[in-house]
Amino acid sequence: MTTLSRLKQALVERVKTTAPTRPTQPLSESQYAAGFNVLTQSPAPSSYQHFIVPELSYLLAPLHTCSSDTIISVLEIGPGPRSIFGLLPASLRERIGRYTAYEPNTKFAARLEQWFEQETPLPDLHSEPDIRECAFNLDGGVDEEEKFDIVLFCHSMYGMTPKQDFLRKTLKMLVDDGIVVVFHRANVLHMEGLVCHHTANYPTGLLRVPNDDVILGDFARFVAGFAIRGGDEKATQAAWRNTCRALGRREGRHFVFSVPEVMFVFNQHATSLPRLSALVALGEGNTTVKNGEARLHRSAPVVRPKDIPQIQHCVRWAKMHGVGLTVIGGGHSGHCMVPNVVAVDMSAFNNVHVLPTEDGEGTSTHPLVIVESGCKTVDVIQKTMDVGLTVPLGSRPSVGAGLWLQGGIGHLSRLQGLACDSIVGAVLVSVADSRVLYVGQVPHPYRPAGAVRPENAEELLWAIKGAGTNFGIVVSVTMKAFPAPTYWTKDRVMPLKDDEEAWRQFENFDHVVAGRSARNCSADAYLYADAGQLHLGITTYESCTSATHPDSTIWAPDESPISVDGIGLFGTEMYMSTLHGGHSNHKTSSFKRCIFLKDIYKPSIAKRLTSAISTCPSPLCYLHLLHGGGAIADVRTDATAFGNRDWDFACVITGVWGRDQDGTDVAQATVQWVYDVATNLLPVSNGVYGADLGPDPRDAVLATQAFGQNGDRLARLKQVMDPDNVLAYACPLPKVCVPTPKLIVLVTGESCAGKDFCANIWVSQFLDLKQGGVHACAASISDVTKREYATATGADIDRLLNDRAYKEEHRPSLTTFYNEQVQKRPRLPEEHFLAVVHNAANVDVLFITGMRDAAPVSSFSPLVPESRVLEVHIVADPQTCHLRGGAASETAEKTLEHKPSFLFTNDTIGDEAARRFAETHLFPFLHHDLKRLQDMVRTVPCFPQLDITFRHILGIASQPSGLRLCTSLLQSHFSKPWKNIGAVIACEAGGLVFAPALALHVGVPLVVLREAGKLPPPTISVPRTTSSYISAARPPITVSQQRGGGRSKGKATGLEMESHVLLPMGDKELLVLDDVLSTGETLVAILRLLGQAGVEAGRVSVMVVAEFPAHAGREMLRKSGFGAVGVQSLMVLGGK
Ligand SMILES: Cc1cc2nc3c(=O)[nH]c(=O)nc-3n(C[C@H](O)[C@H](O)[C@H](O)COP(=O)(O)OP(=O)(O)OC[C@H]3O[C@@H](n4cnc5c(N)ncnc54)[C@H](O)[C@@H]3O)c2cc1C
Repeated sequence: MTTLSRLKQALVERVKTTAPTRPTQPLSESQYAAGFNVLTQSPAPSSYQHFIVPELSYLLAPLHTCSSDTIISVLEIGPGPRSIFGLLPASLRERIGRYTAYEPNTKFAARLEQWFEQETPLPDLHSEPDIRECAFNLDGGVDEEEKFDIVLFCHSMYGMTPKQDFLRKTLKMLVDDGIVVVFHRANVLHMEGLVCHHTANYPTGLLRVPNDDVILGDFARFVAGFAIRGGDEKATQAAWRNTCRALGRREGRHFVFSVPEVMFVFNQHATSLPRLSALVALGEGNTTVKNGEARLHRSAPVVRPKDIPQIQHCVRWAKMHGVGLTVIGGGHSGHCMVPNVVAVDMSAFNNVHVLPTEDGEGTSTHPLVIVESGCKTVDVIQKTMDVGLTVPLGSRPSVGAGLWLQGGIGHLSRLQGLACDSIVGAVLVSVADSRVLYVGQVPHPYRPAGAVRPENAEELLWAIKGAGTNFGIVVSVTMKAFPAPTYWTKDRVMPLKDDEEAWRQFENFDHVVAGRSARNCSADAYLYADAGQLHLGITTYESCTSATHPDSTIWAPDESPISVDGIGLFGTEMYMSTLHGGHSNHKTSSFKRCIFLKDIYKPSIAKRLTSAISTCPSPLCYLHLLHGGGAIADVRTDATAFGNRDWDFACVITGVWGRDQDGTDVAQATVQWVYDVATNLLPVSNGVYGADLGPDPRDAVLATQAFGQNGDRLARLKQVMDPDNVLAYACPLPKVCVPTPKLIVLVTGESCAGKDFCANIWVSQFLDLKQGGVHACAASISDVTKREYATATGADIDRLLNDRAYKEEHRPSLTTFYNEQVQKRPRLPEEHFLAVVHNAANVDVLFITGMRDAAPVSSFSPLVPESRVLEVHIVADPQTCHLRGGAASETAEKTLEHKPSFLFTNDTIGDEAARRFAETHLFPFLHHDLKRLQDMVRTVPCFPQLDITFRHILGIASQPSGLRLCTSLLQSHFSKPWKNIGAVIACEAGGLVFAPALALHVGVPLVVLREAGKLPPPTISVPRTTSSYISAARPPITVSQQRGGGRSKGKATGLEMESHVLLPMGDKELLVLDDVLSTGETLVAILRLLGQAGVEAGRVSVMVVAEFPAHAGREMLRKSGFGAVGVQSLMVLGGK
């Protein structure tokens, strides 16, 4: 099936050969419109529905989490008769406040105007849509002073040359955080000299064109992009129709064409390349990228760092400009280069250091080898072989680091394990903060100056062993080496009569040849067709460390295997030397995906294998079955990131075509065949090999099976190690909901108040509740800093961790060190917090000590929206602290500017008081009544907007005993004595459902706050802005507000109370009760109103039935000056 680009070439060629002298002319408006209609009216599946609308919605979605007031201004270039923005979800269309378009086709421009008038697709426009009936030109006519949030070229760049100049022009028209989005029908689109912020592709788009002379004619002329002048038009049209019919795939009454699409998003940093190339040399021209697909991608540009500081420059540059990077190792994958993305070529790091055994730090019984990331397989094998050693790698000499970082299956795997199993240490540049890290065993001379061992070193080493392309730019790995063997090998090829014979041979091969092999033997199989006949090829290998002839039972008596060394072994691969006359002549290109299989003789698998060969589009395709088992399966599936270990064969589905067919329909069909076979084998597979999986959407489903049970753990680590997704094009990790503890208790307080002491007691109490299945643990967040401090200053880490006096001595300089680090890495506190939380996988209750942050609950709870985060602040009188070894200080209660969830006074000797505190204040959070209440909250997906899952909190009241349960929980959870409370304050609408019952129950008056104009005078009021779809009805009185340079719009109304209503309560405390805490806007308005009534914030407590931490409502309160108000929530709910 041909693509539109190739159809265009064919149509142009056709004119050249049939009518070379005929004059051409640009399409008239009606010719253009007729062709355009064919494209937009193609029967589904449409790329608009499956690609463009979801991608645009994804780009605009962050606006939901920004201020509710944010609106967007849009410039669309060449929209046609309707704007694509009209297809977005209502919630996004409502955010568009200004719409401008350049549409040169007068008919389209008129229809676009009409569409806006009749259908109001963008309901909240501040002004009339500005539709300019002219082309967007490079020279004049365009006011570059106009600024927009989004500039969109949706299929409108075709006639623009050079495209990058048009793009540069629109970049100047962006507001600070604006974006230019380009959708283009092609496999790639290069914007010379520009780098993109984000990219996506849709390789499987199709276009169905009816088999009708007029429609095919309109379509062909549109695709060709010109018409023939004069009397020859008819003949040309007929020739073009024939071309379409010849190249399209016939499907009933339609011809089908392939229409791959790409999307590129550029921000104002798109022109920032010179800042990188000033620091790091460009590597163009010298980079050997083996993969044909990657070569077609041609990145923008390739940089070749020559030392580690230059790699750090690349990372800092990428982070500063919000762009991604790819990394080139051996250049065998399709995604080591991505159009308009900078590629970091590691070829300058090409050393192999074989260490004498005594350099191996004594912990390994094996000699160690340092392998830098620019090395190729052959470099490692040659260097180690020179000293009688080897490392288990793969079968091609030119394959690079991608192999050992993602697995690495070879002929020694059954004996020594995968290549990644041999990795015992690594040096990498962090893409989170550009530090140089080392993990595991990295002997001193090979640790770069300034390298630090991160807190999560073990976790990182675990991840590098199988998923190592996702967490940093790896500079080198330390690998175990083994004695170099001699390999004995022999090929056998048998033509197969038919499929049934093939299945019988599979069984024989699986049971007799492969099944009985010793660990030092392996048997690979090839299934392929040659001259139309199915063949099974088998290569057997035996590795021996003695020079004697092997005596393995895998050799038949009449067989005489040949012997080779590790280098000679590369030439023995059957696909190189035998299949289809040998693929070693470099005149072919290939595309592979690899699926793990067990019991290949079973009909469900065997039939799929033979049918794969019968459907391959190019005769050069084959299936390669690499022998597994042995040492591969010895390693536990969770011991390394490589989680798929239970398989007999790794089936490499290999699509091959002639190099002269690169970029043609044959190449494209062969790639699709590989995906089809992989998808077909997936249900009967034991997992997928992650190597080679990349950003192609067809890889996404395969990637879900790539790491076995380790996917969630890797996804959590990715959040910490690559928070900005700098390495966005590596093997996709599954998108999972990261489980976090139900309850996270931040134990804060002055030095020597007893934080660790209390945390440990509370952990033991929760563990004692074993019948409830509660797992608890404590962790210190400051240990990370202590480690970094010790590395930087030479302080003794063991004493810092375990010797109180030593720690106290270093406290001031530790604090200074931490503050300096935060200056350099502003996200450091969040990183440390998430690292501690994610290390506590499967824990229900986590106590964190060692926090230094002010108001930690408001800062950190949005990071873990599924967890309840509390702060228990421990105080002890100064004398007690002093006696315990700390510096005397005032009690924390007096110095704190925020309100911790609880204050615990730890003055008494023994653990009794701490125990009582946990029983009274902490255990209730795990009580099953809270779970019962939560079960009463109905979840309604896609309401009131597509991207929202609505939690019906008010619906609790309509459940049998719902209101009673909620009231009793509100009463028992409130942390202050009820006798001190003068009134329950409730605000309509949500608060009024729960507050009357509570007020009645606890016997205090109820004070109602209402929207402006609803209460009798005298009243006081404050403005209130609402964005919450959860708690608030749309306010009836709206006032437009302009903020942020005229780009914002808000809906505000007043909140009101009777001015005298609180007088009878005197100085008593007040409790504000509301249904939810989300963005915090309503609470801020209530607290301001109470302030106007003369109530200080210190007299007010707040309780809500449910809190949605994702909206950071507590932070809003704090920023609005209400950090000292205590807020309690009965339930904490994830999502929004
Ligand atoms: C002809 C051929 C034979 C093969 N034979 C085998 C085999 O016998 N056994 C086997 O297991 N696999 C085999 N493979 C698969 C191979 O392991 C993968 O294609 C692997 O990804 C190639 O790694 P590379 O470094 O050569 O390619 P690249 O394209 O350079 O790298 C692959 C991935 O690793 C990333 N990467 C590379 N270097 C680094 C780094 N320093 N830090 C972080 N990320 C990095 C890249 O960004 C990319 O995502 C073969 C592939 C081909 C094409």
